Amino acid sequence: FQTRTTPGRHFLQIPGPSNVPDRVLRALDNPTMDHRGPDFGVMGKQVLGKVKKIFQTESNVIIFPASGTGAWEAALVNTLSPNDRVLMCETGHFASLWREMAERLGIRPEFLKGDWRRAAEPDAIEAYLRADKGHEIKAVCVVHNETSTGCTSRIAEVRAAIDAAGHPALLLVDTISGLGSMEFKHDAWGVDVTVSGSQKGLMLPPGLSFNAVSAKAIAASKNAKLTRSFWDWAPMIASNATGYFPYTPATNMLYALDTALDMIFEEGLDNVFARHDRMAEATRRAVRAWGLEIQCAEPRHYSSVLTAVRLPEGHSANALRATIGERFNMSLGNGLGQLNDRVFRIGHLGDIGELHLMGTLSGIEMGLRIAGVPHKPDGVRAAMDYLSGNA
Ligand code: PLP
Repeated sequence: FQTRTTPGRHFLQIPGPSNVPDRVLRALDNPTMDHRGPDFGVMGKQVLGKVKKIFQTESNVIIFPASGTGAWEAALVNTLSPNDRVLMCETGHFASLWREMAERLGIRPEFLKGDWRRAAEPDAIEAYLRADKGHEIKAVCVVHNETSTGCTSRIAEVRAAIDAAGHPALLLVDTISGLGSMEFKHDAWGVDVTVSGSQKGLMLPPGLSFNAVSAKAIAASKNAKLTRSFWDWAPMIASNATGYFPYTPATNMLYALDTALDMIFEEGLDNVFARHDRMAEATRRAVRAWGLEIQCAEPRHYSSVLTAVRLPEGHSANALRATIGERFNMSLGNGLGQLNDRVFRIGHLGDIGELHLMGTLSGIEMGLRIAGVPHKPDGVRAAMDYLSGNA
C-alpha cells in the first residue's frame, strides 16, 4: 500500500499509531487459535493478568476489539443514565470529541472551558463540584494525555480535587495516548474507569481498546440505564474469569499484546517512562533552538508522548508536513480541529530510541529549510547536546 518510492524505512512519527517493533509483528504472525478451545483460556488468563500491571490495577481490565473511541463509549454507557450531568474539561480536540459523544448518547456534559494550551485544572474542577450541592454530577471525565495539544493532566490532583469537594462523582480518564509512555496508576489515583487503546505506548497496531474498572464503577454499572449491548461489561467480566470472551476476540492482537507487555516489563516501567521523558526533553530543546513555539504553554503540563509545534503566522503546518513526507518519507501529526494547519505534532512514543529521534528531528530541520519556514538551524544540535550529555 505504499504510494511513495523513497527508499528506507518509513518514519511513522505521528502520536499514534506508533511504530510496531519487529518482535510484536512476529507475535501477530502466529496461527489463529480456536477461541473456545482449551489453549485459548490459558493464553487469555495470562494476558488479562498481565495487562493489569500496565494500568497498575488489581481490578478488571476489559479488552474490546475496537479503537479507542469504542472504549470511550463503553466507559459512558456502562456507568451513566440518560440526562445524567457529567463534567468534562476542554483540553483539546479529543476532549471535545468525547463531549460530543456524550451529547449524542443522551448525557448532559458540562464543559470547563480551556484554551487548548494547557491541561485540566484541578482547582476549577474542585470549585465546580463544590457548587453542585445536590451531587447531580455523576462523573468527571478527563483526558490524561491530550494528543491534539501535547498537554498532560495531573490525574492524582484531579482525584484530590474531587475528594476535597467531598463529591461522589465517578472519575473517568482517557489515557489512550498516555498508557505505557507516562506514569498511570489506576488504583493509587482512584480512577473509576480508565480508557485506553493499543496503538500508542503499547506499540501495537490499532484495534484493541481497554476499560480498567474500579469496584465503584462496577457497582454504578448495575444501575446505569443507558442502552448497551456490545459494550456491556457484565458478560465480559463473566467470561474473562476463565480467560475467555463473550464474542470472538481479536486473537492475534492478544498474542501481540502479550509480547508487547513482556517488552515493556523487561525494560522496566520506570525506565520506559524515563526514556519517554528524555525523548520529549530533547525534542523540546530542538523546537526552542529552532525558535519555534511549543503548543503546550505550561511546562508542568508538558507531555512526554508528543510535542505539538506552532508555526509562525502565515506559514502552513500542513505544507511543511507534506514537504517532509514527500522528501524524507516521514509522517508527522497534523493539527486537529481549531489547530488545523497551525501546528504539527511530533510523536516520540513507543518503540523509539535516541538515533530514531535524531532522524526524526533531522527530517524536520531539513523540512523547515526546504519549506521556507523561518527558523534557526540549531535544533538538531541542541537535541544531540542534550542526549550526549553536553547540554
Ligand atoms: N482520545 C485520545 C486522547 C486519542 O489520542 C485518540 C486517538 O488518537 C482517541 C481518543 C480516539 O481513539 P481512536 O482513534 O483509537 O478511536
